[in-house]
Amino acid sequence: NNEAQVKFEKLAELDKKHFLHPSTPIKQHMEKGPGLIFTEGEGIYLKDVRGRKLIDSLSSLWNVNIGHGRSELGVAAMEQISKLGFSSTFAGNSHEPVIKLAQKVAEWTPGDLNTTFFTSGGSESNDTAFKTVRHYWKIKGQPNKTKIISRSLSYHGVAMGATSATGIEPFREFTTSLAQGFLYVDSSIKSLKAMIENEGAENIAAFISEPIQGSGGVNPPPEGYFEEVRKICDENDILFIADEVICGFGRTGENFGMNLFGVVPDIICMAKGISSGYAPIGGMVISDSIKNELMEHYDGNFWHGYTYSGHPMCAAVALKNLEIIENENMIQNVRDMGEELQKGLKYLEETHDMGNRRGVGLLGAIEFFKDLETKERYAEPVSAKVVAKALDRGLLGRSIVYGGQDTLAFAPPFCITKEEVETMISIIDDSIMEVK
Ligand code: PLP
Repeated sequence: NNEAQVKFEKLAELDKKHFLHPSTPIKQHMEKGPGLIFTEGEGIYLKDVRGRKLIDSLSSLWNVNIGHGRSELGVAAMEQISKLGFSSTFAGNSHEPVIKLAQKVAEWTPGDLNTTFFTSGGSESNDTAFKTVRHYWKIKGQPNKTKIISRSLSYHGVAMGATSATGIEPFREFTTSLAQGFLYVDSSIKSLKAMIENEGAENIAAFISEPIQGSGGVNPPPEGYFEEVRKICDENDILFIADEVICGFGRTGENFGMNLFGVVPDIICMAKGISSGYAPIGGMVISDSIKNELMEHYDGNFWHGYTYSGHPMCAAVALKNLEIIENENMIQNVRDMGEELQKGLKYLEETHDMGNRRGVGLLGAIEFFKDLETKERYAEPVSAKVVAKALDRGLLGRSIVYGGQDTLAFAPPFCITKEEVETMISIIDDSIMEVK
């Protein structure tokens, strides 16, 4: 309607004038303005200011896991803020929600990963892990163990360390003088072994990887990969950091993505799903063994802490979010609906002659090739065109073209129903038909 259109245009003008968007082509944006201005959400749907209702097929940024519109989280936030808006956790002080959340996280994590350092998101969690592992080796008398190995097409965030560890090149090429000592390896065990051999294990602090790469194109590891990496890390005194920012808290149908491979890392970095995006919070969880070493070899200050390390409201929201996932048995739904999603992707693959269908749980992708045999690509990515057509049909989609791929990624909220999965697949089906 006209009133909504007027409101949209007013907001769009202000947006263009005053808001520098993250991960957005600036010039294009300043000319065109925002495409959608969201006002509310419910379940798997988002609504924009003009009343358009869209399926949020990626749970926004792979994070709104319990789905939109869960007002219980609003109540939890309000109650916490009304009682205690903020108090610092520096210098050993504490508060109830952060203590309870740290305990809850320890219940969710595997093995002896029992102690959490809190942050405001994934990038901070990874930077925290990089500094912690370097500190760890330093106090153990091995100050040269500083290098961090990450994988091609990995995404670890945009803080200085996190950018430096990110294997998707445009993020690193955006700026200069990144953090030192980051190495990138392809996904073969042979390459990892060669890299350790060349660099010397005595110079390597840690290996970091997502269990299934998200932003890099939903890439599961080769068969047996992490099991072998775990062994190699143990043999070479290299700490294993799992970046569970996307996979953590149920996305793959397991508590954490590394559980899929029966691998227990030394450190888990988390964010997104811990609060389903309702409040900015993340963390780094360390094993008892690392914690003991940190205490044994050093009695100084832990010279690392964010003002919002353990924000009371964020902790209260995260606690309520995890309670909802537990009480509503949502991880079982991830498994059940994950099967439906993978079935749907298989149907698309077979119907449209696509390739490289992949994923697990409610995390999936399909890829376009002009010629499946030669793996020749279309001159212009088809996935981007499909996303544009799907938007007209009521679905907000995600196309990934890093590293020359042409991928459609899916990570819908955990509350999705069978009927909603079918709607999603049928919208994509029709959209592909229209562009190909
Ligand atoms: N690590 C992974 C695997 C991610 O997917 C992301 C964000 O997409 C990050 C780290 C960075 O998290 P944040 O954007 O909260 O800093």
